[in-house]
Amino acid sequence: MIDEQVHRFHESLTGVYGHLGQDIVDFALRVSEAIVKELVPLVEARDKGPLLASMRAALDGYEAITQEGERSGVFRDDYDCREGCGHCCCVKVVCSPLEALVVAEHVRATRPNEGRAQLERALGVLLQATRGVRWDERAELPCPFLLDGACEIYEVRPFVCRGYISLNVQDCLAPRPNFISFDEDRQMLAEVFSHATMLACQVAGLETDMVDFHEALEFFSGGSDPVTAWLEGHARVPVVRAVNKTG
Ligand code: SF4
Ligand code: SF4
Repeated sequence: MIDEQVHRFHESLTGVYGHLGQDIVDFALRVSEAIVKELVPLVEARDKGPLLASMRAALDGYEAITQEGERSGVFRDDYDCREGCGHCCCVKVVCSPLEALVVAEHVRATRPNEGRAQLERALGVLLQATRGVRWDERAELPCPFLLDGACEIYEVRPFVCRGYISLNVQDCLAPRPNFISFDEDRQMLAEVFSHATMLACQVAGLETDMVDFHEALEFFSGGSDPVTAWLEGHARVPVVRAVNKTG
């Protein structure tokens, strides 16, 4: 089962990103296989602590790989992204449920009650305002974690935010930011990390798919114990379909 699902993912990945070159695609495939194999038993064990630790390691792993890639010249370094530049944080964010879970737990651990209530209100307003906004359009409201142009949850932000590296900031201001000239290597790698963490949930038996980051956060912030209910298959995070190029 693991092999079949991972194989299907690998086939679609090669189809979409084959033009980047076999070496980088092969590397991405090995990464995704390693992530799936590490996470599946942890999801199956329904043990939140080790699962979150492993997800944090995957997020840090992506960062380490891209930093090393930039140092060694494998990844481009002529991008326009700078601290304080946050026009990109007005598009919908697609991630795996585990990525949203990491952020929800981070918020729980770092924000006092009033701060969490404030976030829940902001999420409600954002979800209401962006209902019907397409995945490739800018929304009028930014992500609630964008503060003074910087990401408040930088160390746990989803993979897609990490891979959203624009080679031309002017593109980011356009009404349809899907035409941005991205650094495709990083974008592909971010997609692979994200998708692998979702695949691990599927392989472990959870009925899930990629999710809307803000909707998933709302899900994980509500109810009495949404995390356990989700891990035990009693509740489902609302999923988005047909938005992921490799999905
Ligand atoms: S993706 Fe665009 S808007 Fe976002 S930080 Fe980079 S240059 Fe700025
Ligand atoms: S999580 Fe951070 S980087 Fe991602 S959209 Fe929100 S503010 Fe931007």
